[in-house]
Amino acid sequence: MEHLTTSQIAEIDQQHIWHPYSSLTNPIPAYHVESASGVRLKLADGRELIDGMSSWWSAIHGYNHPTLNLALKDQVDVMSHVMFGGIIHEPAAQLCKTLVNITPEGLEKVFLSDSGSVSVEVALKMAIQYWYSKGVKNKGQQRKSRILSLRKGYHGDTFGAMSVCDPVTGMHHLFNDTLPKQLFSESPRCGFHDEWDESYIADLKGLLEKHSHELAAVILEPILQGTGGMHFYSPSYLKRVRELCDEYDVLLIADEIATGFGRTGKLFGCEWADITPDILCLGKAMTGGYMTLAATLCTTKISDGICNGEAGVFMHGPTFMGNPLACSVANASIDLLLSSNWQMRILDIEQQLKSGLAPAMAFDNVADVRCLGAVGVIETKQPVDVAKIQKQFVAEGIWVRPFGSRVYIMPPYIISKDDLDTLMRGILKVVEHYSA
Ligand code: PMP
Repeated sequence: MEHLTTSQIAEIDQQHIWHPYSSLTNPIPAYHVESASGVRLKLADGRELIDGMSSWWSAIHGYNHPTLNLALKDQVDVMSHVMFGGIIHEPAAQLCKTLVNITPEGLEKVFLSDSGSVSVEVALKMAIQYWYSKGVKNKGQQRKSRILSLRKGYHGDTFGAMSVCDPVTGMHHLFNDTLPKQLFSESPRCGFHDEWDESYIADLKGLLEKHSHELAAVILEPILQGTGGMHFYSPSYLKRVRELCDEYDVLLIADEIATGFGRTGKLFGCEWADITPDILCLGKAMTGGYMTLAATLCTTKISDGICNGEAGVFMHGPTFMGNPLACSVANASIDLLLSSNWQMRILDIEQQLKSGLAPAMAFDNVADVRCLGAVGVIETKQPVDVAKIQKQFVAEGIWVRPFGSRVYIMPPYIISKDDLDTLMRGILKVVEHYSA
């Protein structure tokens, strides 16, 4: 196949290609990236950008990493893909064993799938089928089949996942006729370090009290509500949700697709509260950002409940389930992470983010600055124009993609002190002088 020129690529892009969360009639520019290495994205025009996004939380070891490259190259010569129905292979066995070992105690069973959103669909189906299988109906003969989620939560873009996303940012009104009607509690009002006050959980508790008979599960993102607002909340909140779920006999689904694999300073966000959810979703950083792969883990209580029930089987089976290439690179990525001094690395990044971003607090257009682990957030008073501000970031040689009023970074863990300084200096310079 002949190579395309830069202008041909731009033309095809403009005429035919839909980008995430975008309009085709009023598109925002897409930057042509030719290659990526370490923490740098190389544009077709020769400019290099320091990456602040880890390709949406995933590229934790940076790009073009020799160990991850080798894992894929080795695996491709053995077997790129084989169906998972009735077949097992070493890369999947290794990965599932590792996931059971490193995730909170009690999560024993692993369902592999191809993206974060699908792993959430799987989690919701597991929770609903668990109660169905137990034959539990409430007084009105309804099953326990609704989900309680948090406002400002984000869990993906497929229908089930969308039904548990914040109704406003998830634009539920567009899909009102189709989406299952879930319940929403107010988002946690407490910050990460706030002293615990039982009033923080009152709304959620009230909903559990009133609706537990029809609720299959509570779903939340532990410690950090990501795409719905980049808000860190107290581990005590998480602990209390676990206790209340037990008290009201409702399952707990932890969506660690963004927080998993060290991002908040613990390997998994649940560890901050020392809890085990009934069901856990993983994705994004699991393959170091190399391939799309996700996992839904559950306890034996859940798998037994499902499999001893009426259907006897769990009805889900994606074509690319357990893809050997994706599992191999996930094995290599998790190995790389666990064999590094990642806790120190994340702590160092957190310290540097805290001091580096702090000056933004004094800017007139900034409402808040907050950091946890390898995540730094500047919240502006007004939403920013993504196309406009992104152009300014690119001119500073940095790759940052804000949403709404959140200008945030979660760089690859391998970022050097100097590169992180340059990244933050660029952000401060742009944000300080930004006006819509
Ligand atoms: N849950 C959370 C917490 C996420 O951050 C995301 C992705 N931003 C998803 C689910 C959906 O994952 P994916 O984009 O891989 O479908």
